[in-house]
Amino acid sequence: MTAAPYRGRFAPSPTGPLHFGSLVAGLASYLEAHSHGGQWFIRIEDLDPLREPPEATGQILRSLEAHNLFADDAVRFQSRRHNAYQAAIDRLIMQGDAYRCTCSRKQLQDNRGRHPGHCRDGHISPGDRPFAIRFALKDEESHWQDQLLGPQHQTVKAELDDPVILRKEGFYAYQLAVVVDDIDQDITDVVRGSDLLDMTAQQQQIYRALGATPPRWLHIPVILNEQGQKLSKQTHAPALDDDNAARNLFLALLALGQEPPRSLTEATVENIMGWALRHWRREAIHLTSR
Ligand code: GLU
Repeated sequence: MTAAPYRGRFAPSPTGPLHFGSLVAGLASYLEAHSHGGQWFIRIEDLDPLREPPEATGQILRSLEAHNLFADDAVRFQSRRHNAYQAAIDRLIMQGDAYRCTCSRKQLQDNRGRHPGHCRDGHISPGDRPFAIRFALKDEESHWQDQLLGPQHQTVKAELDDPVILRKEGFYAYQLAVVVDDIDQDITDVVRGSDLLDMTAQQQQIYRALGATPPRWLHIPVILNEQGQKLSKQTHAPALDDDNAARNLFLALLALGQEPPRSLTEATVENIMGWALRHWRREAIHLTSR
């Protein structure tokens, strides 16, 4: 049997413009895909209009273009995929893999992770109370291989962690949508920041419940600011300056442990990307930040 052709993706949530940390993740996934002769896609994970300034998607797409990170197909938007998420939820409920839950996370924690209302066992009916839908995790020791970090081991604890897949406010949640779309787009390889490492075992269970084989994962170290915090909107990471795309790419390659020659500090975006595609070495990524 021949392996499926490599298909990778970059899937930002448009909660703000791209910052340096997201450029590093996007660049790593792009270079991994191309160094495997594969394809690379962009998916905007716009599931939560309350956290997404309307201009953010346009800013992200312009930034990716300014850095020559071009996708191999039209950009996908999760906001246009609600039917697919609902169909997945219907399936999971029918299979007994998801349930309606009126509890808050705090209530669950106060009750040592057990559902006070037994909603997991189907013993409550939500009535008029707002409810979320949670995926029913199985207690499981998960062992898997990260393409960069090596063997991973995670204990999945059912009930306490059962991820919300449809929020009380009516929004489909990341944990479900990311899996539904990665399956639908035949993604073989996920490259993303190691802040999402802990989500992987749960996502593997959702894959299997939806009848799919999980992809390979590669988690890159997250980029920290001078205070040691992850670069993010919450830590006020500045937006990328698209007018300095060549310099941003040079610095992103350094952050990924690559060794672009000094001469490239004056190079164009095309030249830097050309060098990066020819010289990309996944093994050179530093493992230290996590
Ligand atoms: N949309 C997620 C984020 O921006 C990333 C999804 C993923 O790569 O799994 O954090």
